[in-house]
Amino acid sequence: MSKVLIVAEHLGGHLNASTAKCVTAAKALSPESIDVLVLADDASAVAAEAAKLNGVSRVLTVSNAANANPIAQVLAPQVAKVAANYTHVFGPSTTFGKDLMPCVAALLNAPQVSDAMAVEGPRTFKRPIYAGNAIMTVEAPEGVIVVTTIRTASFAETTRDANAPIEAITVDAALPTHTRFVGLAAGSSDRPDLQSAKRVVSGGRGVGSAENFKIIYDLADKLGAAVGASRAAVDAGYVPNEMQVGQTGKIIAPELYIAVGISGAIQHLTGIKDAGTIVAINKDPDSAIFETADIGLAGDLFQILPELQASIP
Ligand code: FAD
Repeated sequence: MSKVLIVAEHLGGHLNASTAKCVTAAKALSPESIDVLVLADDASAVAAEAAKLNGVSRVLTVSNAANANPIAQVLAPQVAKVAANYTHVFGPSTTFGKDLMPCVAALLNAPQVSDAMAVEGPRTFKRPIYAGNAIMTVEAPEGVIVVTTIRTASFAETTRDANAPIEAITVDAALPTHTRFVGLAAGSSDRPDLQSAKRVVSGGRGVGSAENFKIIYDLADKLGAAVGASRAAVDAGYVPNEMQVGQTGKIIAPELYIAVGISGAIQHLTGIKDAGTIVAINKDPDSAIFETADIGLAGDLFQILPELQASIP
């Protein structure tokens, strides 16, 4: 029987929703147990949130000042030590997990299964390749711990109706000093987090300038939505890189995605493959985005967006 260890992603004392999605993926294995590992300077608040996740057997905490910031090189030796008692180690396929899990896999001498979008068996997973144009079935070899990053857009969050026990543990692992925390440069916004938002309004090159992006922010605020962008909008300097949606940006699965002035290149579409309803606003009626959109509005965004905004109570 499988025993799964999930590495909790958290920031500012709050558990990231990606962990709840990893639990759903782990449940698909029908495992003997699912433990969540919280590495932090003070793990108590995050552990309390993790304990509520349905399907979790235990929450293991490692409170250590060295874990105050998520530095992969510091966390990985601790995860690898704890992982020795498990058949599987899961982490989210987010920036956090993409940074950490390859280090864990290397320490365990295991090949990593990246970006799993479906669990087919104890060692068999489906994952997208070629920007989501093809789906590949991969099998981790026998005899090694299965290290997997979970594509968060492909799994729903498990419910928060449980009360798993929390156990503080100590891990005897040598922590490297060659990588240190210097600072965190992150944009601050009152808007929902792009990665986990239920509604997203994204702007593309068609928006035309950084100043014009106000029209996107205004609609997003009216809808309580996060704001995203195409790579062309990022490259043109309209918005920062962290807002990019797509193959080389964020893979998201909101219930509602509104693409404004975006042509629908495959590299953009791969980031919204699992979105619920896709609305496209584009002045070119032949634009590729209309082939994917559930609702298409062909026209000038500078005319349509104010009208749309005025019609929302
Ligand atoms: P364009 O293709 O220039 O489209 C602009 C659209 O705006 C047009 O359809 C136009 O009709 C419309 N428009 C213009 N003015 C108006 C107006 N007034 N009203 C309404 N509509 C208007 N792209 C991503 O987005 N994310 C990625 O992660 C990504 N990764 C990539 C990785 C690789 C390896 C490569 C090669 C490319 C990647 N790209 C990515 C780039 C991608 O191929 C496209 O170039 C990009 O998505 C185009 O962005 P866009 O739709 O905003 O711009």
